[in-house]
Amino acid sequence: MKAYDEERYSRQVRFGQVGTVGQERLAAARVAVVGCGALGSVVAMALVRAGVGFLRLIDRDVPEVSNLPRQVLFDEADVAAGLPKVVAAARHLGRINGAATIEPAVADLTAANAARLLGGVDLLVDGTDNFAARFLLNEFACREGLPWVHGGAIGAEGRVLAVVPGRTACLRCLIPEPPAPGSLPTCDTAGIIGPAALVVGAVEAAEAMKLIVSPPGDDADQRRWNRLLVCDLWDHVWRTVDLAPLAERGCPTCREHDHPWLDGRLGGEAVVLCGREAVQVAAPPGGTVDLQAFARRAAVLGKVTANPWIVRVVVEPGIELAVFADGRAIVSGTRDEARARGIVARSLGA
Ligand SMILES: [Zn+2]
Repeated sequence: MKAYDEERYSRQVRFGQVGTVGQERLAAARVAVVGCGALGSVVAMALVRAGVGFLRLIDRDVPEVSNLPRQVLFDEADVAAGLPKVVAAARHLGRINGAATIEPAVADLTAANAARLLGGVDLLVDGTDNFAARFLLNEFACREGLPWVHGGAIGAEGRVLAVVPGRTACLRCLIPEPPAPGSLPTCDTAGIIGPAALVVGAVEAAEAMKLIVSPPGDDADQRRWNRLLVCDLWDHVWRTVDLAPLAERGCPTCREHDHPWLDGRLGGEAVVLCGREAVQVAAPPGGTVDLQAFARRAAVLGKVTANPWIVRVVVEPGIELAVFADGRAIVSGTRDEARARGIVARSLGA
């Protein structure tokens, strides 16, 4: 008996570069998608439809109405339900393909939890919206020798790069110094159109399929690798940049095992969330919060809503505090990091 449903995947198997062996590799593959927003939604959906057997989804947030123009796994009911994105996504994906194992992780990727969240898989895919998470992903992938796919979309533009440590340029080869927070346009400042995210997510999913079905070690055509896709949907410009010279030179991360983000030498605490009027405040050392106990205490602060993953309380008019089981908090209604930290300290200490 085949490891996959022959009728279901008949068209994909007929595509010669996949074939029966490729489909078996997809069924056996274990993939982690970091970030379940615009890009992560598309990647997760495409890979689950393609027959990837195991998918871990990692995301720190809940869906909002302003996500719906581009985050294709979510609908108005998900926004109203207030469940974490990965929990809502896992339900939708389970209905798309009941044979796939979907593992939702409600968490913010940090140096401290990277090994737990990113371990035990064959491939990592970038659905994040920030460079701190991307550099962490790059360093973990380079250290562990794991392939990963980087993608980014802003405005009508996108970029995608498949990284195979030891064979291709890595993210730091391409971007030697991570840009200072606030120095680059984000989806908050420059906006984004849904099709840019759909395209980038689709190309990332195709790169992921190639890495599973025909990794560079097996691939007769090496021209497929070491190429950065850059596109602008509004100007209708598509180009690939040859990164072979960068790969030749290498960088401190991929050549000299320098991991400043993974070692905790770089990376911060509170962070203004892209696309939201909200600040995330990291968990106190030791992490985890007794959510049920907090829900009881929080009733004196304001109106409380709770589910097994999140307790929310409106602490001031227009300011909502959401506390997650891993000890993180998101303060919505402000972009002031100091104010957010104060609200969290007062409320969790109450
Ligand atoms: Zn490098």
